[in-house]
Amino acid sequence: METRSGADRAARGTWLVYLLAGLALVVAYFFTPLFIGGFPVKVVLYCALSGSAGVAVCWGARRAKPGSRLPWALLGASQLTYFTADAVFYVSHYLIGTTTFPALADLFYLGHYPMAVLGVLLLIRRRAPGRDVPGLLDAATLAVVAAMLSWVYLIGPQSRRGGSLLAELASVSYPVMDLALLTVGLGLLLGAGARPKAFLLLVAWLALILTADTIYVAQQVMGVYTAGNFLDAIWLSGNLVMGAAALHPTMARVSDRAPVRDSTLSPPRIALLAGAALLAPAVLVVQYYTATLRDVPVVAGACAVLFLLTITRLGILVSDQRKLAITDALTGLHTRRFFEAQLPLEMARARRARSAVAVLIIDVDHFKAINDRYGHPAGDRVLVEIAARLRSTVRDGEVLARYGGEEFALIVPGAEGETLHTLADRLREQVASAPIVVDQRQWVAVTVSIGTARHPTHGTTPAELVAIADRALYSAKAAGRDRVVVASDAPLPEQPQQHPREQPELGGSEYLHLVADAVDDLLDDHGHSRSVARWSRMLAKECGYDAELVRRAELAGRLHDVGKVLLPRSVLVKPDELTEQEWELMRRHPEHGFRMAALLPGHLGVAHVIRQHHERWDGLGYPEGLAGRDIRVEARIVAVCDAWAAMRSERPYQPAMSVDRACAEIRAARGTQFDPDVADLFLSLHARGAIADLHLVHRG
Ligand code: GH3
Ligand code: MG
Ligand code: MG
Repeated sequence: METRSGADRAARGTWLVYLLAGLALVVAYFFTPLFIGGFPVKVVLYCALSGSAGVAVCWGARRAKPGSRLPWALLGASQLTYFTADAVFYVSHYLIGTTTFPALADLFYLGHYPMAVLGVLLLIRRRAPGRDVPGLLDAATLAVVAAMLSWVYLIGPQSRRGGSLLAELASVSYPVMDLALLTVGLGLLLGAGARPKAFLLLVAWLALILTADTIYVAQQVMGVYTAGNFLDAIWLSGNLVMGAAALHPTMARVSDRAPVRDSTLSPPRIALLAGAALLAPAVLVVQYYTATLRDVPVVAGACAVLFLLTITRLGILVSDQRKLAITDALTGLHTRRFFEAQLPLEMARARRARSAVAVLIIDVDHFKAINDRYGHPAGDRVLVEIAARLRSTVRDGEVLARYGGEEFALIVPGAEGETLHTLADRLREQVASAPIVVDQRQWVAVTVSIGTARHPTHGTTPAELVAIADRALYSAKAAGRDRVVVASDAPLPEQPQQHPREQPELGGSEYLHLVADAVDDLLDDHGHSRSVARWSRMLAKECGYDAELVRRAELAGRLHDVGKVLLPRSVLVKPDELTEQEWELMRRHPEHGFRMAALLPGHLGVAHVIRQHHERWDGLGYPEGLAGRDIRVEARIVAVCDAWAAMRSERPYQPAMSVDRACAEIRAARGTQFDPDVADLFLSLHARGAIADLHLVHRG
């Protein structure tokens, strides 16, 4: 283990040793005489250094085994060709003394370019996630500027130098090849992908080689180039840096694919692109003052191309940014912002077309438990899967958005009553269709509750529509989750109504109303059942139930105590504590009430609610000891309202409880005596001032 890690560390340092030793030899090269004892030391040293880079690249690629070896193989081959060119050049130049141009060496020098260009091109392709158009456009912008400068200052003058056709062709080929290498180099630099050290070394190689080449052509144009000048140091350093890149431990990561396309323009990049683009008009100005307008068409052409590239680049940027702004990063659905922008438009369209538009709010049931049990990242994966399932049921023209953490929202244009319920139920079933994988061996069953509301039936403004759908969602939760609740078709009343007697009721129960009033009077609790009726109606509505259920809750509230009329008077109005036996009798009143109401045609539902109004959420109530959602929701509603009325009324033997105290009692009993969701809704109704005090009701 020790030796292994020691060897690893040694391997990790190879690149640096190679680079430093190489650079030391480059310095030595300049102090070495051409021959020592007849041996061409300088030539051998030069060729050894340039050849070493080719060997280093091939060896590095073998050792690091990058995902794709072809780009590196091409770079290695190009460097070995370069080395061959160097060997041929220096041997013929120094040892044989031929200085013709072009010579055999030029064939190899020019021949190395296509391999290098192809190698870099392949690296760019490997690194890009799909087509990296923004990177390509940026590289093209700089390449156009470079091409223009090259044309004006290198290629043009070079081509006008005269000489044989072959010489002209060869000398123009150098700047053209350099331009090609520069273009792919810019593509590499500005394209997508990670930038480990090996990448930076590769960029440094390109920068050094291209700098030396450019100076070389410039010196040729001016006729001042001499073999063995300082350019050798730059060329050799470039070669060494390329070898070091291949030996660097991060070499394999250079060809890693970038995860996402990024079209953002960083400030340095903007500065670079703008600065480069400004060179074109700058060249025109220089030409104007030097009275050489020969290249105006070329520069003007470059300006036009730059302009088009810039516009295209910005167009892509704007479109990408817009996509980003309206797309939720986790699920890929639309954002809430997009949803909120779309809803008014859809409602306006529906108004014009005299059609409907529905809003569905979808909330994952007990999602916190999933997070708590499997962790937040697993929770995220579940959200992604739920989003995918929802998306699979959504049709063209509908807008599905992530509305909040684990809430989704859907706009359905043209939704009519029945189809709305069917559609919402299809979404619900789709999510629940199969358990979701949280990790390799764990699955979790997930359900959603959905509340929906329709324009124009339930709301006429976007905010109203969402609020009503949200309330329907709340009641779907209260009714046991994993279900759909369509908002009640009756519009909500502006004000709580003061006269329950005028409310629409199930017909035929008038005499029972008289009984209810009689019981209230008997107990000196005037108006008790009317208050309970009114609050039950409001609470059921608040839960978002349909008109029928609301009416049943109200009637059950009104009639919940009618069974007491059958109790012995002595028990009913006894001022002292009841004995166990008397309690036994007292606990029968829900049963009596059930019998009385059940006698009326169409009142069986109400009768059942009356029977259950003393059941408790925790199963400790009577007469049956039902628990949780086995108790009808109307009974759970009446229970809270009944308790509130009892606590807030003045009794001969006990003063009314304060509002705060009564609220605290309700809160304390949520989850034990009361359905917690119903209790919460009651408290929120109360907090909004919707639960008028008892004496106010009496007077009304
Ligand atoms: P219910 O809606 O059925 O009443 O229960 P719930 O547990 O879903 O209730 P609640 O709305 O209180 O909890 C929502 C939880 O969702 C709380 C929060 O931790 C979690 N959550 C919100 N956003 C994200 C998210 O982006 N990723 C994950 N993993 N969890 C989130
Ligand atoms: Mg929620
Ligand atoms: Mg939830």
